[in-house]
Amino acid sequence: MEMAAGVSGETLLQRDAELLWHPYSSLSEPSPMRLVRGAEGVRLRLDDGAGETVEAIDAMASWWCMIHGYRHPVLDAALRDQVDQFSHVMFGGLTHEPAIRLAERLVEISPEPIQHVFFCDSGSVSVEVAIKLALQYQVARGHEGRTRMLTVRGGYHGDTFAPMSVCDPVSGMHSLFTGALKEQVFGPQPPSGFDRPADDPEFLAWAAALASIAAEHRDEVAAIIVEPILQGAGGMYPYSPACLKVLRDLADEHGLLLILDEIATGFGRTGTLFASEHAGIDPDILCVGKALTGGYLSMAATLCTTDVAHTVSRGPGGALMHGPTFMANPLACSVALASVELLLSQDWSAEVSRISAGLASGLAPAAELPGVKDVRVLGAVGVVQLGGPVDLQRMTEAVLRRGVWVRPFRDLVYTMPPYICTDEEIATITGAITEAIAEGN
Ligand SMILES: *Cc1c(COP(=O)(O)O)cnc(C)c1O
Repeated sequence: MEMAAGVSGETLLQRDAELLWHPYSSLSEPSPMRLVRGAEGVRLRLDDGAGETVEAIDAMASWWCMIHGYRHPVLDAALRDQVDQFSHVMFGGLTHEPAIRLAERLVEISPEPIQHVFFCDSGSVSVEVAIKLALQYQVARGHEGRTRMLTVRGGYHGDTFAPMSVCDPVSGMHSLFTGALKEQVFGPQPPSGFDRPADDPEFLAWAAALASIAAEHRDEVAAIIVEPILQGAGGMYPYSPACLKVLRDLADEHGLLLILDEIATGFGRTGTLFASEHAGIDPDILCVGKALTGGYLSMAATLCTTDVAHTVSRGPGGALMHGPTFMANPLACSVALASVELLLSQDWSAEVSRISAGLASGLAPAAELPGVKDVRVLGAVGVVQLGGPVDLQRMTEAVLRRGVWVRPFRDLVYTMPPYICTDEEIATITGAITEAIAEGN
């Protein structure tokens, strides 16, 4: 591994602490950082600041993104090829093959009614666009009063203002932004558990609550927005496909659109290509991001049905009012296309099942440990929920000492490993998490 032009890790880390915001960070009390000197396959190479390099399996896949691992030769080549042609052009009045081919592929693999694609820079922006589509759709249908979103508690949809307004009000810290955030309509969180039966009393109570909220607010709501099957950054919380069916029916009954945010769940993570497939329902608007480019570049997309596309296009504005500078960036489109093709060219579903089984058996012993409240696995996502907040620094270090990188939050230590992890690497991940928790929180 080459050292960066002689600058010591210690110096870089010191500059970082003075200069840089990190996600949800304080500049007054910067938290410890690790310096990445390289990454290949499933492993990060970290500089410990004292000149030593340690290797760690990235059990987070860089927050859901890096499904094929780092420096994948196919993805590297796709990027290089596109660099040799052109790296960026404006998308106003100009188009290019990478965007067209990627859009075609996404339409092909997404739920059947989904036919049109808007490319943007990040997941949050794709949710902004989804909300804008829904609002313009309702205006076009003469429902100007329908300006709110209906969602459930416990969700996460991004950090810009419109997505933030549909995040869980408590974990999304809405109290900090009172007056600046649109007040949306919140229903209760779906009852937990992917396997919860459809005649379960808690499920029935939840369905009844949602039905009455939807009926009460129908004239002010444009769309229902949720993360299907698995709420991610809101709490790594799986729920039953039956809940999604309820939401689809309510949307149809009241003339609302159903927006599914599959930014975390898309591209196989929960065991189906899109999580909505577990429920056998289709969205009107679909957001994808994160693993879209195999983790190489920031890009997301908002997809929609022909009804949504043409209703909005024929509406009062005569256009969808959005157009980012880096819309459909050719480098991002090229690497995304390569990543999607790479995923589909293999038996990804078998890989996700294999990882799922490894996570389930490897994390099972954690359920017996003192201080552990719940262990759950859905697809290639494994979660250990503790009885209280995780000591982030202690836990990160204890897991890292065992050769694994995790980033716990709140009361959760969790992993969504790259799909290329071997059984042995999955065992290393689950072993490191279990042992670190056994040491005490
Ligand atoms: C990460 C995430 C977002 C936001 O995506 P960014 O690229 O971070 O803006 C939105 N929705 C869900 C479900 C996510 O997991």
